[in-house]
Amino acid sequence: KNLKKYFPIKGGILGRQVGNVKAVDDISFDIYKGETLGIVGESGSGKSTMGRVLLRLLDPTSGTVKFDGQDISTISQRKLRPLRKDMQMVFQDPYASLNPRMSVGQLIEEPMLVQNTLSSQERKDMVVELLGKVGLPPEARMKYPHEFSGGQRQRIGIARSLSTKPKFIIGDEPVSALDVSVQSQVLNIMDDLQDEYGLTYLFIAHDLSVVKHISDRVAVMYLGRIAEIAPKHSLYDKPLHPYTQALLSAVPSTKVHAKREKIKLSGDLPSPSNPPTGCSFHTRCPQAHDRCKAERPDLTHMGDGHYVACHLYTEPEPKIEPKEV
Ligand code: SF4
Ligand code: MG
Repeated sequence: KNLKKYFPIKGGILGRQVGNVKAVDDISFDIYKGETLGIVGESGSGKSTMGRVLLRLLDPTSGTVKFDGQDISTISQRKLRPLRKDMQMVFQDPYASLNPRMSVGQLIEEPMLVQNTLSSQERKDMVVELLGKVGLPPEARMKYPHEFSGGQRQRIGIARSLSTKPKFIIGDEPVSALDVSVQSQVLNIMDDLQDEYGLTYLFIAHDLSVVKHISDRVAVMYLGRIAEIAPKHSLYDKPLHPYTQALLSAVPSTKVHAKREKIKLSGDLPSPSNPPTGCSFHTRCPQAHDRCKAERPDLTHMGDGHYVACHLYTEPEPKIEPKEV
C-alpha cells in the first residue's frame, strides 16, 4: 500500500543530496493467493526495484507490504528471518546467480542448510526430488553450473528457489536471457510447479507477450507507477491506457482479427529522477491533453477488477467557486 522507494542523488562539492530517483512512486495493489500477477514495464520503470522491496531485499522509503496479513515492511531482520523461507526470488541471469564453484546439489541444498530443519539424508532426497520436478536427472547434482545450458541453469535456479517450500515466488525476468524456444519450456515448468505446490507468483517481464500465458492478472508500470492493472483477458482484449495500447500494438499477433495498427511512441522514457509533471506519460502520449500536464491521474476502477490511471476515463475535479463573504 502506497509503496515508495526513492534513491537519493548526491551532487556538488559537498556531496549533499540534490534529488531523488523515484524508482517506485506510490504503488498500491494486492496479490491473491495462488495467482500469477505479471508486471510489465520498460527498463527504468521500477519493476525490479518493486520486487526487491516486496521481499524486503530493499527497505521501502515509505508505505507498507503485508505478507499473509503481517506487515513485513518495518519488522527487524531477525523477525523477518523465519518468513524468508516463504518468499523466494528467481533471478534473470542464471549465469550470474549460481555460484560456479558449488555443485548443483550444493546449490539446491544451501537454502535448506540455512533453514536447518532437515537431516542430511532428507536434504539429499529433497535435492533429487526437486531435480526431477524441473526435469533433470539425479546425477545432475554432482555436476557444476557451467556444464548446463542456459535453460537448464534456470531450471536449477527454480529448483533452488523451491528448496525451502516457499509460498510466494518472484520471478525477476526469469526467461528474458533465454532463447525463445527455451522460454516456453521454463514457463511451462513454472506453471506446473505452481499447481503442484500451490504457489503464488509475481512474474516480472519487459514484454507483454512473455507474461500472457502464465499470468492471471497483469499490471503495466511506467516510471515507478502502475498505469493499468486488470485480469489478463480484459487487459489484452480491451487495453484502456494509451501506454498499454502502444505496448500491445507492438506485440506480433497471429490472429488476423486481432491485428492492431502499430502505435509509435515519440521520445524515450524520461528520467525517473526528473519525471514529467501531471501524468508522467504525457510527454509521449498520443492522446495527451491540457489536463494531463497539470494533474496526476489516480488508478480508477472501471469494473471487473480493471483499473486504469488516465484522464480519458475520469471527469475533471469540479472547480469549487470561492464563497462570497
Ligand atoms: Fe495520456 Fe493524459 Fe491519459 Fe496520461 S492521462 S495516458 S497523458 S491521456
Ligand atoms: Mg498459473
